Amino acid sequence: MIRTRFAPSPTGFLHIGGARTALFSWAYARRHGGSFILRIEDTDLARSTPEAVQAILDGMKWLGLEHDEGPFYQTQRMARYQTVIEEMLAAGTAYHCYMPPEELDRLREEQRAQGLKARYNGAWRPEPGKILPAPPAGVLPAVRFRNPGDGVVAWNDLVKGRIEIANAELDDLVIARADGTPTYNFCVVVDDSDMGITHVIRGDDHVNNTPRQINILQALGVQVPLYAHLSMILGDDGQKLSKRHGAVSVMQYDDEGYLPEAVLNYLARLGWSHGDDEIFSMPQFCEWFDLDHITPSAAQFNTEKLNWLNAHYLKRAEPARLAALVLPRLEARGVTIGTAPSLEAIIALYRERVANLNELADAAEVFYIDIAPKAELLARHLTAEALPALADFVAGLADVAWEPVAIGALIKQSVSAHGLKMPKLAMPLRVLLTGQEQTPSVDALIALFPRELALERLAAAG
Ligand code: GLU
Repeated sequence: MIRTRFAPSPTGFLHIGGARTALFSWAYARRHGGSFILRIEDTDLARSTPEAVQAILDGMKWLGLEHDEGPFYQTQRMARYQTVIEEMLAAGTAYHCYMPPEELDRLREEQRAQGLKARYNGAWRPEPGKILPAPPAGVLPAVRFRNPGDGVVAWNDLVKGRIEIANAELDDLVIARADGTPTYNFCVVVDDSDMGITHVIRGDDHVNNTPRQINILQALGVQVPLYAHLSMILGDDGQKLSKRHGAVSVMQYDDEGYLPEAVLNYLARLGWSHGDDEIFSMPQFCEWFDLDHITPSAAQFNTEKLNWLNAHYLKRAEPARLAALVLPRLEARGVTIGTAPSLEAIIALYRERVANLNELADAAEVFYIDIAPKAELLARHLTAEALPALADFVAGLADVAWEPVAIGALIKQSVSAHGLKMPKLAMPLRVLLTGQEQTPSVDALIALFPRELALERLAAAG
């Protein structure tokens, strides 16, 4: 039974890298009929906020990455961590360290001054035959993990291959501070073990934690999960992804009018591939997803490709669904939707032509607000040549059958009566009706309007 988890620290929004980690963990569980667990790593009280927790939950929900268990909060598991610390002290796999913080600082400074890596010197580490000093009065002890003194700690990373670290490189990690609070790596270990995690899929910024975590798991005598460390995501420019690159929060993609399925499809291909397949649904992805086709090299963000995917999904989305997504965007602009034209009908006509939901809102807006076409556009298109054809057309519009074919026929008739080409009439119609030069086919556009509204806007031609 495969069990994966996504374990964000709630110190900010759900960013793109986190979302990809969540997606891969989720998909791996789905692929194998396993469970996907959401765990909030909120023990850093100074940096964790309820707003960030909410932002993560919102982001996961927006993406549709449903968890099967959780969310578990580490701050609610303190008693459990305490119990494990007591057990480790009793078993001798952890020990009390009474080195006062000042002494530890001094030690580190000395080591750095000698060009050495700062590390604990094992002063309070029990060894056979070693006599420990008497605990100093008034110093509360930290608890340290008794890291194996020799040998190597190794794992076969499912993305990066075999990784091996000499234990001599690792000092005895503090697992509980003097005030009793458990430390980060220790909580992760207890949780991964208690939650029966089989595959830890996470960012490769955690590679350095893994040997320490494996050693603690082994000391606890529990199953060590398999690890897959995902390489980082670079921005369009090849630099580390940051705010500078625009949308880094998943919810910002929502604000910018991306559909979640476009973002998911995009993220799925960020460091993973299935042949040349670029466009696929999440059920398809879950069928294909494996850890063998994750590239160990950094993935580079490509906004153009994301935009292309978004346009693709917009074209295929149900107008009713898009209308429900566009409506709040219009409301946020203070636009009230009248009964006609129907937002759905507008969207059905425009969804093939836009890159995102905000452009769809832009297109829909002009049907519901008073528009004032720019003088420059009017001058360009309401030429002396066009006006008589326009007048004929407007006259005919009063009683033409209100559907695109009949309206199209009326346009043709009006241009040919004056020996003009189609655009000579289509352009002024577009500008008068929408204030824009670019619209879908003008007969379909006109049919969207209620007849009175179309006549009213065209009357503005004078
Ligand atoms: N809480 C860690 C983070 O947000 C992830 C820990 C893990 O996946 O093991 O980076």
